[in-house]
Amino acid sequence: MSWNNLRKNQKGLPNDEMLADLYALSRKAKVAEQTERPTYFAKPYYAGKFAQLTFITTGCKLGQCSFCSYGGNEKEITPEIVHEEMGRFSSEILSKFLFGKPTDYVLFDALGSIFDPNEFSNECLDALFEDCDKLVRRAKTIKSLDFETHYQTLGTLDENGEFLESYALKKLVEFKNSHPEISTTVIELGFESANKEIRDNLLFKPIDDEKYKKAIDYLHQNGIEVFVNVMANMPFLTKQEQIDTSYESLLKVLDNENGFGAENVCLFPLNIRKNTFYSHVLDCVNKKEKQNKDFQRPVWLDEENSIWSMVATLKKVVDSGHEDLLDKINIAWFGGREVYSNDVFPKDWEQIYDDLMMFRFNLSGDNSRKNIVNRLAETDGYKSYMESVKKEKQTSLSHRERAEYLHDFLEESSPMVAQSEIPVINM
Ligand code: SF4
Repeated sequence: MSWNNLRKNQKGLPNDEMLADLYALSRKAKVAEQTERPTYFAKPYYAGKFAQLTFITTGCKLGQCSFCSYGGNEKEITPEIVHEEMGRFSSEILSKFLFGKPTDYVLFDALGSIFDPNEFSNECLDALFEDCDKLVRRAKTIKSLDFETHYQTLGTLDENGEFLESYALKKLVEFKNSHPEISTTVIELGFESANKEIRDNLLFKPIDDEKYKKAIDYLHQNGIEVFVNVMANMPFLTKQEQIDTSYESLLKVLDNENGFGAENVCLFPLNIRKNTFYSHVLDCVNKKEKQNKDFQRPVWLDEENSIWSMVATLKKVVDSGHEDLLDKINIAWFGGREVYSNDVFPKDWEQIYDDLMMFRFNLSGDNSRKNIVNRLAETDGYKSYMESVKKEKQTSLSHRERAEYLHDFLEESSPMVAQSEIPVINM
């Protein structure tokens, strides 16, 4: 059996019901992550120049994305906890005890959306901005503030289609306007794919494109920069489709005229994380492989594919004459993660990993991004990956039909979660 021999949804479920099953299962997979976790989690990067504080909240209330594990934690974040954590974070930045070098870029995020009042209350947000004010006044090296959140938490559209900002966004704009010493204020948003069919049917991340674009326009009008996440190694696509769709998504996100005109995009490959819908799929695939030796493992479950799919997307950016965009494309989540796949790393992985890390530093000369991409494309691993791209069989199946197959496959392997158990939230 191969996913190229897909069958129609056997039960003949109406589309919405079929998707509701899958979305519910994805929510269920995250709920399984509910464990007692610390509320404080700070990370330094680039020898401390970039510092990140993640609030370990109760988890994302807005999505059921198939690749994401942000489900939950039982402990509610309170303003007191925010003050406590900001106190610790600030003293670590100020003393450079943890971070080594003066921090100039700070990212705040949560296990979902820092601007979602159902996850991080308005009182918590007030406490955060109060302490942020103290931090930037004392740590004069901080020049950039970044907040990661879901686009819906930025605001909504009124009956005339005008964008109305949320409480959180209003606070951010006020904060920005009263702190001219902060040269860059950033909102980081998930998007993953410019293809709505892929988002709806395979990523379970419905997005209203018009609302999304209007939220970004509003951010730009208020001098706030936008970083958008785009995925490589997209599930249930052929390798060629994976490259093409990630490439097109990068162009759309960065295009100033017909796209979002984002300042930056982060390209990250799908890796299988524990407690996600796709880790459940992986368990079912492993079971199936044991039962049926002819079963063909989907490519996106391989660590190696996740890396080459990302590199091939970057190579396409270079080869199509868009190399000027490379400065706006960062990469993340490659290798070294706690992956749940079959752990196949490319040959010469250490050199490849070093090059990928260097890509992030955006150096010049031999280590310019373009040279790094071209160097990676000369490796044996990349060449044999591209050979396999040329040989693979393509399919004309729609993304909805692939979701139907997925539904059938999962139902065969384990019972579906009752839809009534976990409501689907429309985004
Ligand atoms: S909306 Fe974001 S945080 Fe929520 S499930 Fe999707 S990717 Fe995860």
